[in-house]
Amino acid sequence: MHCPFCGEADTKVIDSRLVAEGDQVRRRRECLSCRERFTTFETAELVMPRVVKQDGTRQPFDEDKLRAGIMKALEKRPVSIEEIEAALNRIRFRLRATGEREVKSMQLGEEVMTELRQLDKVAYVRFASVYRSFQDLNEFKEEIERLSANGEGSDPVGVAKALAGESSSGDKAAEEKT
Ligand SMILES: [Zn+2]
Repeated sequence: MHCPFCGEADTKVIDSRLVAEGDQVRRRRECLSCRERFTTFETAELVMPRVVKQDGTRQPFDEDKLRAGIMKALEKRPVSIEEIEAALNRIRFRLRATGEREVKSMQLGEEVMTELRQLDKVAYVRFASVYRSFQDLNEFKEEIERLSANGEGSDPVGVAKALAGESSSGDKAAEEKT
């Protein structure tokens, strides 16, 4: 890194050691030009990227909100808390792995859909229908057909029946689709 004193591009590491119980690397550096010495600390960045909404506003990553959204889609579905937490962990891991400081809310939504598709087809269609704001019933039908065409082990009739059953009982998620 550049020398903070004279701006020289080349500095030499003269000592390097682990500190903070191995969570940090402390490096002693010397400038090759002005001979000044300084110290740098290197730590892993574990903060989650911020979420950029479609209107351009930024929000901190809100895990509780994400969990609530997933739970809502999975309401009355046979999926355990452990499976939901594991899905949340994978989403967190992938977002962090991007190394970006900001992610689009759309990308976050896609991550949720990827997980829901594996967990529960009905929850996936519920979430996707609200999230993607399905234009009309045809698009909705296409999504269900696409699911079954991908051979993901779900019969479209079963998914459609489950959805129909819930919209007739005044399910909140179903109402939001319209
Ligand atoms: Zn220097």
